Amino acid sequence: MYDYTIIGAGIIGSLIARELSKYDLNVLVLEKENDVANVQTRANSAIVHSGHDPQYGTLKAKLSVLGNKLYDDLEKDLHISLLKTGAYVCAHDKDEEDILNDLYENAKLNKVNDMEFLNLSQAQLSEPNLSDDITKVLSLPTTKVCFPWEVAFFALENAINNGVELIRNSEIISIDHKNDIYILKDQNDQIYESKAIINAAGVYSDDIKDMIEDDAPFKITPRKGEYFVLDKSVRGFINHVLYPLPSKKGKGVLVTPQVHGNILLGPTSELVDDKGSISTSKTGLTYIKQHVTALAKNIPFELIIRSFAGVRATSTYKDFYIKESTSHKGFYHVAGIDSPGITAAPAIAKYLVDEIIKIKLPIKDSFTPTIAKKIVFNHLTKEEKIKKQKENPLYGRIICKCEHITEQEIIDAIHGPLGSDTIKGIKKRARAGSGICQGGYCESLIVKIIARETNKDLTQVDYDQKNTPILYKETKVSS
Ligand SMILES: Cc1cc2nc3c(=O)[nH]c(=O)nc-3n(C[C@H](O)[C@H](O)[C@H](O)COP(=O)(O)OP(=O)(O)OC[C@H]3O[C@@H](n4cnc5c(N)ncnc54)[C@H](O)[C@@H]3O)c2cc1C
Repeated sequence: MYDYTIIGAGIIGSLIARELSKYDLNVLVLEKENDVANVQTRANSAIVHSGHDPQYGTLKAKLSVLGNKLYDDLEKDLHISLLKTGAYVCAHDKDEEDILNDLYENAKLNKVNDMEFLNLSQAQLSEPNLSDDITKVLSLPTTKVCFPWEVAFFALENAINNGVELIRNSEIISIDHKNDIYILKDQNDQIYESKAIINAAGVYSDDIKDMIEDDAPFKITPRKGEYFVLDKSVRGFINHVLYPLPSKKGKGVLVTPQVHGNILLGPTSELVDDKGSISTSKTGLTYIKQHVTALAKNIPFELIIRSFAGVRATSTYKDFYIKESTSHKGFYHVAGIDSPGITAAPAIAKYLVDEIIKIKLPIKDSFTPTIAKKIVFNHLTKEEKIKKQKENPLYGRIICKCEHITEQEIIDAIHGPLGSDTIKGIKKRARAGSGICQGGYCESLIVKIIARETNKDLTQVDYDQKNTPILYKETKVSS
């Protein structure tokens, strides 16, 4: 019997798990995918917004501003990557400047710090590639960029070290509530019993709600966002997050530096029927190219290395829906967590545990808020690299040439506390395959390493989800 069962291991479920792991409780996390952070948390802009944009008085506004601050604690405790970029919101004429002034007033009410207005020449001193059509800029220095998969992984790894249990490939298909106990069933007919449940299922949070009640006032209306990724050789082309003015469709098409040096162009914002639709479209990608030039000039479109799309869990409730069910005590919905969900995530986890569940237990003596810093070979000094290679020759074998990822880092990604045996899982953990060749060189080597380390046949190595092998059969047999 579990005290709390969290459905969904995105950034929200993972940070809630970490928050609950402070206490002497049996906590279970169930994830339908074979990996953590495989849905919304995998495909987004990765911006830790300042909290300027959500309407004053909403939960989104309060938790974004607090979440932004809490990222500094996560950086200290979990060694997450954080790029302190700052952001510029750009206006192009008098009408847009009026909207920018309103945005500033809203941000002031939300208690966003250190903002200032700049004219074009002031802003171009730090961003020479800013479009010449811009007339006024709102500078938001507290804006940062994180690596959302990493935040989810490290938070859940920390939670697991503190006693939380994670089960992957477990899609909850029904929930029953009898004698104050919740009985959850997954697609494998596996049954879990729990005293309380936390619905952190992202775009699927209304499907989970529908399993237990019909009176919670939210429905997910999924909104797709498409992107281009520029190769990391553009590093420095733009250093701030560049926003146009927000509209009803959201924050608009942005230019966003990423922690590893790449730049994202996008996203679009289109309502879709299919929650699982992550394909890109000619219309969407053309829209990005047309709109992004309003923010930056000389964009090196020739350095596009890939495109991708994600689907936001936008809800009819118009704010984050973080409440206990009115008909089922101990069932908590953490739903409608669309943008700025990455930003607000650490604050959402604290808000749920401290203000909604109101856990009264003392923090257990054994709770450890930190995890060990991961070795990224390419970040070491020359001397440290030589020492590491002497200790372990697998640090001397570069597998991913674009990102300089060594064989030992791939082995660590396979066997770590939140290890993975898929090509995409290794890409998410070690960045192998994230460079300009997008795995063209290293994927064949990674398949072999995964097969060797997990005692599998090459044809059994999955690309991403379960049953997605990338090798079908052997075509040439060497003697
Ligand atoms: C295009 C786009 C751009 C965005 N940009 C930003 C940004 O720059 N900054 C920002 O702050 N936010 C941004 N967001 C929002 C942010 O990505 C989300 O708010 C955040 O990732 C939500 O995390 P989550 O854990 O709730 O959802 P998810 O990451 O989707 O996690 C939910 C998990 O629940 C699992 N699940 C679902 N159903 C079941 C079931 N039946 N049984 C078991 N498990 C289940 C899923 O597999 C999934 O892993 C963006 C989102 C998108 C799509």
